[in-house]
Amino acid sequence: MRRVQSIVLLGVLVAAGCGSTPISPSSIETCAGFGEWQTSPYVLPYAVGTSYFVDQGNCSPPGNGHTGAAKFGYDFLMPIGTPIYAARAGTVTMVEESHFDGQVAATGFDNVIVIQHDDGTTALYGHLTHDGAVVGVGDRVLQGALVGHSGNTGNTNNKPHLHLSAASCDPSALGTASCPTLPMNFRNTAANPQGLQRGGSYTALAFELFGGKPSLA
Ligand SMILES: [Zn+2]
Repeated sequence: MRRVQSIVLLGVLVAAGCGSTPISPSSIETCAGFGEWQTSPYVLPYAVGTSYFVDQGNCSPPGNGHTGAAKFGYDFLMPIGTPIYAARAGTVTMVEESHFDGQVAATGFDNVIVIQHDDGTTALYGHLTHDGAVVGVGDRVLQGALVGHSGNTGNTNNKPHLHLSAASCDPSALGTASCPTLPMNFRNTAANPQGLQRGGSYTALAFELFGGKPSLA
């Protein structure tokens, strides 16, 4: 609901024109730049036929986590141990799985997998369970392949969930601040031209890999 408000505010900002008191741009996240969702390179990172709730989406309200360089991303509420599948093919560049579920803090306890895609962008799968990765650094993973299991580690606000975000470069090498997140939508669910919406639940549908091969999941 609050996201709808921010869209309205942006509309006001655009329509206000000269002479009106502008709304401070710094108070509004610009959350645009999505490609065609039907041909998105991404699929939902969970099993075909399952559905999860988006607790936090792109451009969070102030006080929440998806802002600034990290403004594009999704938090899918799911029980600890839910299988996580690659949203896009790539090569694993980072695995951290040493932390334990319930080790919740703003920094320092996140279990993550980072996968770099062929165009240099990356996807980060966050808050995974202890020993929750089934891939290792250097592994090549196909879209839809099992990569790990979700958990409740790190900056979760003590809500077990998967954080998924795409970034312009490899945050495990260059730092998250140097690799701004990117708009991400998904071709195997309901229409999502502006990405998934906070407060919605999205079912993963069967999909084809690019090239017409059937999905693995
Ligand atoms: Zn998140």
